[in-house]
Amino acid sequence: MTARRNRLDPATLAAQALGTVDAETGAVVPPMHSSTTFARGADYRLVGDHLYSRDSGPTVRRAEEIVAALDGGADARLFASGMAAFAALLEALPEGAHVLAPKSMYYAAQDWLIRQAWRGRIELDLFDQTRPEALSAALRPGRTALVWIETPANPTWDVVDIALAAEAAHSAGARLAVDSTCAPPPTTRPLELGADIVFHSATKYLNGHSDLTAGALIPARDDELWAQIHKIRTATGGVLGGFEAWLLIRGMRTLHVRFARQSETALALARHLERHPRVVEVLYPGLARHPGHAIARRQMTGGFGGMLSILLDGDVESARRVAASTRVFVPATSLGGVESLIEHRRSVESPQSPVPDTLIRISVGLEAPGDLIDDLDQALAAA
Ligand SMILES: *Cc1c(COP(=O)(O)O)cnc(C)c1O
Repeated sequence: MTARRNRLDPATLAAQALGTVDAETGAVVPPMHSSTTFARGADYRLVGDHLYSRDSGPTVRRAEEIVAALDGGADARLFASGMAAFAALLEALPEGAHVLAPKSMYYAAQDWLIRQAWRGRIELDLFDQTRPEALSAALRPGRTALVWIETPANPTWDVVDIALAAEAAHSAGARLAVDSTCAPPPTTRPLELGADIVFHSATKYLNGHSDLTAGALIPARDDELWAQIHKIRTATGGVLGGFEAWLLIRGMRTLHVRFARQSETALALARHLERHPRVVEVLYPGLARHPGHAIARRQMTGGFGGMLSILLDGDVESARRVAASTRVFVPATSLGGVESLIEHRRSVESPQSPVPDTLIRISVGLEAPGDLIDDLDQALAAA
């Protein structure tokens, strides 16, 4: 299977869930194993590769093999949510490790970083990830253990040059981890650009159907840190369940076609909104005027994604009204699913959040583009 895997395009591997037909039954869909425990044979050796499901199981393992292949990693581990994966990575760092993370990033992950720093578990510095010189200035050669970046980053969709960040991190002896949730493998493969670890909230594009939470870590190398991460998952029980892994496999089979369509519709929407009189600014890396567009063209080779934000004229109340006035877009948090979502982002972050009052975040789904455009037009007119 490995030889076959190496020659095929990731889109093919995803569509066929790595292309294995069940040897026993001929089923073209991988089976779902829910067993928590795995038997031993007459010699008291385990019959298969698994012992107990808190450590690993066949369906989770299959999903992990697919995720590893999609990102071109040495391995992959799946967790019960993105945050469980993120927490395991932090837990694997040595006591007091120096960590760098963006000033503007996924809110809950930054909140957890700040808590860990407050407890003294890590030493944290936040930097402006849109300025490469800010990363260089924040790095402490020989001291910094981990640089965390997110690209494109919530909710402004700033784009970070992964290759440049990897070079800077490595020159200081640090690892680079990339939150690539909003740039999944059909468009960006951070390990090929020099990153050491890729993170996905698989809740979002990888699964794509808003029906499970999952997190993925994918390493460039199977090293000591990686072994530690697996140990932490086994010890703390953050592993993904068998049924969720099975659903995730099903979701990933359509990842490439979903992402391409979502990117196409998002670009059409961004271009439409750019000309709308009530819209002050459209934040989307696919627009030529977006500050990250040049990097995005190099780094997001399969589309600019389905996430965009708009800044409205007016105040916080009128922005909230727009987000509540849609009929096709569902007013809800999260992203990357088949249904389009709209959110007044400030309302779901903390009072200290740097997100502008009038920012509305949009996750584009698979509906007819015309319906989405009409819906936003009527919501903007109504509010
Ligand atoms: C959702 C999200 C996370 C957290 O993942 P969960 O699956 O919700 O735990 C992290 N980073 C980004 C960019 C996200 O969108």
